[in-house]
Amino acid sequence: MYYNLHTHHLPTDNNEIAIINRNPDEDLCADASAIGKNVYSIGLHPWHVDANWQEKIEAVRSMAQQQNVWAIGECGLDKVRGGDFQLQKEAFRAQLEIARKVGKPVIVHCVKAFDELLSMTDKGNKIVVHGFRGKPQQAKQIMAKGMLLSFGQLYNVETLKFVYATNLPFFLETDDLRLSVHQIYDQVALHLGVDAYHLVRLCDPRQICGRLP
Ligand SMILES: [Zn+2]
Repeated sequence: MYYNLHTHHLPTDNNEIAIINRNPDEDLCADASAIGKNVYSIGLHPWHVDANWQEKIEAVRSMAQQQNVWAIGECGLDKVRGGDFQLQKEAFRAQLEIARKVGKPVIVHCVKAFDELLSMTDKGNKIVVHGFRGKPQQAKQIMAKGMLLSFGQLYNVETLKFVYATNLPFFLETDDLRLSVHQIYDQVALHLGVDAYHLVRLCDPRQICGRLP
């Protein structure tokens, strides 16, 4: 079984268990095929932070407790495509607090705002920075704050090798791409010179989500 930390699509591969990302205004019951197998992350994306952000955060809060919701997110900070940065920070802070209350990890989207991310987060949250493409030095700074990383199809190979050498968990994902996460495992295994099967335990999000599907 291959775990996919973060996707926006229902997986088509039976060997994949995915944390499917949903916005707070989406109905999880609509995914009848997902019941019992796939699980979710619920969050307000920085691109969708607008004047009504507080209402959306209340929806995140009420869904956060559901058993099939494994994580809060994706949420975070984006200086390139997001809206008002001040509001983004407030919405992110509110979601960090929700995650602490329900004891679930946060899947973070961060674009050109790593200084702010490092100053806003503390060890009270379990955080995974998703789709990480930064250099090893940036990975080191983020991991020094207790955060973990998730890699999609595009990443810095030196960073991947650095993270692997730390022996800490890391995660793999397809994000908005329509592919099987198996392909990402194969690609990463090739770069690391290991068997893809070896990655399965290392990249298992249950290490931080603390539950079985
Ligand atoms: Zn995403």
